[in-house]
Amino acid sequence: MTLQVCVVGGGPAGMMLGFLLARSGINVRVLEKHSDFFRDFRGDTIHPSTLEILDELGILDDFLKLPHQEVRQLTGQIGDTTLTLADFTHLPVRSKFLAFMPQWDFLDFLAGKARVYPTFKLEMESEATGLRFDGDRVTGVRVKTASGEAEVLDQLVVGADGRRSIIRDAAGLQPEDFGAPMDVLWMRISRQPTDPGQVLGRVDYGKIFVMLDRGDYWQCGLVVPKDALEEIKQRGLPALRADIRRIAPFLGDRVDEIKSWDDIKLLTVQVDRLRKWYRKGLLCIGDAAHAMSPVGGVGINLAIQDAVAAANILVPALRETGTASEAVLEKIQKRRELPTRVIQDGQIAIQNNIIRRVLASEGRMSPPLLIRILGAVPLFRRIPARLVGLGFRREHVTVGR
Ligand SMILES: Cc1cc2nc3c(=O)[nH]c(=O)nc-3n(C[C@H](O)[C@H](O)[C@H](O)COP(=O)(O)OP(=O)(O)OC[C@H]3O[C@@H](n4cnc5c(N)ncnc54)[C@H](O)[C@@H]3O)c2cc1C
Repeated sequence: MTLQVCVVGGGPAGMMLGFLLARSGINVRVLEKHSDFFRDFRGDTIHPSTLEILDELGILDDFLKLPHQEVRQLTGQIGDTTLTLADFTHLPVRSKFLAFMPQWDFLDFLAGKARVYPTFKLEMESEATGLRFDGDRVTGVRVKTASGEAEVLDQLVVGADGRRSIIRDAAGLQPEDFGAPMDVLWMRISRQPTDPGQVLGRVDYGKIFVMLDRGDYWQCGLVVPKDALEEIKQRGLPALRADIRRIAPFLGDRVDEIKSWDDIKLLTVQVDRLRKWYRKGLLCIGDAAHAMSPVGGVGINLAIQDAVAAANILVPALRETGTASEAVLEKIQKRRELPTRVIQDGQIAIQNNIIRRVLASEGRMSPPLLIRILGAVPLFRRIPARLVGLGFRREHVTVGR
């Protein structure tokens, strides 16, 4: 069956775009290579800008019924000093907080809302392996499923298949790689009711340790220098456990829950951006167009903003002509490139000027002057809250049912 749009990848970008297109009466299929959304950590933060979009779509109240945590102020600990670094309570939106929710719950929720529309098809365990061309125009996707290989032919292919996008490779779209000085080791440690409240990041002894409260366990991320895993393995697990206990002493013997290297997942950090996000018959959005650093935890939200901008521009074009011209696709890149560039530039500056230095240092740390001022003056905390919570050039849903 030829549909109007084939979205490759059921992450935040792909699921939101699928939902928005289906809601506007556009026939869309979303191909997702996994059998469910339940897998490794992929970011848990739903920012006020995304909550506002859910509100515009009339699904915020249902979303907030799902188990989640609402964080109104972001705190961090540098050495012995705990500081409030961002205060979301003054943002000019309905939801003045970050919602922390496991990403699989968020994606399941979007899938549930999208399935209501007969124009929506979600094809799980369907892995895109390449593109089909007619001359220089992309006309479809080669797909591997449990029952074999097939081709789907659609009017427009959207690559929303994340940072290792095969779609952008197959389309010959070239990313500019900005590099990243770090990777993240991800692990779980049980949580006790007597543990301190959520302090997002602990910075000390040349380490950065992130802890997300997931109810009965902490989802922990240890930021390590890029490609350092082999060296860390050579030092051994006991040394790693000791590092973690030193930076978060309240964990005590619970660090022994990290029993083997299998309990630790390496998340590689990558920051890049396509020079051109489209070609005839194809568009890339989300991490497939611009892989985001975890700095600021904004990637999911940027992916959602891309999806909203793409739907706002695509729906009128698809309704009118049944397809999207290169001029239409170029308009989407133009709309989203500047906010992406601004945020990535900020992430790269933080990576190179702060994270790189922290990881290269040893011994106890104390907050630099700028951070101390930020922590001490409540008014200033609104600035990072605005940048992180709402981003820049915020999108609103302009296409309806
Ligand atoms: C260590 C780390 C921590 C992060 N933490 C946060 C955070 O806390 N908050 C935040 O907002 N962002 C965070 N990010 C960034 C965030 O994960 C991404 O920016 C965001 O997930 C991008 O969404 P996406 O939909 O574009 O891509 P993805 O989330 O990568 O989704 C792509 C989807 O496509 C599917 N797929 C891939 N290939 C194929 C294929 N060939 N065929 C079919 N399906 C395919 C994948 O299975 C996946 O479901 C973090 C990144 C890293 C590296």
